[in-house]
Amino acid sequence: MKTILLSVDKSVDNLMDNPQVEKAASLLAENEVVAIPTETVYGLGGNAENDDAVQKIFSAKGRPSDNPLIIHIADKSQLNGFVEEIPEKASILMDKFWPGPLTIIFKKKPGVLSEKATAGLDTIAVRMPDHPVALAILKKCGLPIAAPSANSSGKPSPTTAKHVKDDLEGKIAGIIDGGPTGVGVESTVVDCTEQVPVILRPGGVTKEQLEKVIGEVVTDPALLNEAEKPKAPGMKYKHYAPDAPMYLVKGSQKFLQELVDEKRKKGLRVGVLTTEERQEDYQADIVLACGKRESLPTVASALYDTLRSFNDEHMDIIFSEVFPVEGVGQAIMNRLLKAAGNKIISE
Ligand code: AMP
Ligand code: MG
Repeated sequence: MKTILLSVDKSVDNLMDNPQVEKAASLLAENEVVAIPTETVYGLGGNAENDDAVQKIFSAKGRPSDNPLIIHIADKSQLNGFVEEIPEKASILMDKFWPGPLTIIFKKKPGVLSEKATAGLDTIAVRMPDHPVALAILKKCGLPIAAPSANSSGKPSPTTAKHVKDDLEGKIAGIIDGGPTGVGVESTVVDCTEQVPVILRPGGVTKEQLEKVIGEVVTDPALLNEAEKPKAPGMKYKHYAPDAPMYLVKGSQKFLQELVDEKRKKGLRVGVLTTEERQEDYQADIVLACGKRESLPTVASALYDTLRSFNDEHMDIIFSEVFPVEGVGQAIMNRLLKAAGNKIISE
């Protein structure tokens, strides 16, 4: 299949009349799948009302069929069509964080959207992205759009149109390039069907931000304990992994350097994931800076591009620093642990 590549400048006025936006909306209405920029990562959109369109998303990504998709909307009024009820806490969260990197789980109205999109569950995940191009496309087509991250399943999520092209060119109808995404990690997924809302996936909105507006929020214990089954089906899969094995190193810079030296002596090509402040401190084959440690949002924003960059360098092994598990650091460490397959070396 030929993949159409289109660019849209997100800062121009009247995006609704932009020919590229119109093309993307018409492809979606024809039940084709199109990669679109959002503020978190690029999404692979398809008409959530249509089984064929949803199947195309799963096929292009190679995504396991038991992993449900997030439905994207441009207007809260669309919710009434496919959600059974809107709990008060969900309503407060929507007012505060939509559009934005927060996905809310609701009870689903059965028989409206494709069963494949929700992997047969009786709940449904919904969000409103905070990106002018995504919102213009959603408004133009007027459909609820199912959109997981636009990467091959298991790879780091895409934060540029090039990442999408590397994974999915030839497998999807179109890619809309709206420039690099900002937040860099996916949305926070919060289950509002429970009395006390539960974070199923840490992301762009932090637990602290949620608690400020609705009080107590808990984190799915399975995210901290490998033995338990996560409530978000997707959280059980290995994800975000670079091609080379990666280890997270808890300890001093000196300790990490010793690990690097030991592997290099054996003739291996060794990579280090650090931040701008410390990039000059390490001697390795490749040392990549992932944002600035003093500003965790910059680390989140650069994370997937950094993980993908190691693949261009053909490393044998990668050692990564760890980050504080606070604020967006919760999402960063969740993704790094998955990328490393939970391999940690402590000093
Ligand atoms: P992605 O589409 O790659 O951003 O991943 C979406 C995440 O949301 C996955 O971890 C899914 O398992 C999770 N998710 C989607 N729908 C539901 C749902 N109804 N209940 C629980 N988790 C969900
Ligand atoms: Mg994903």
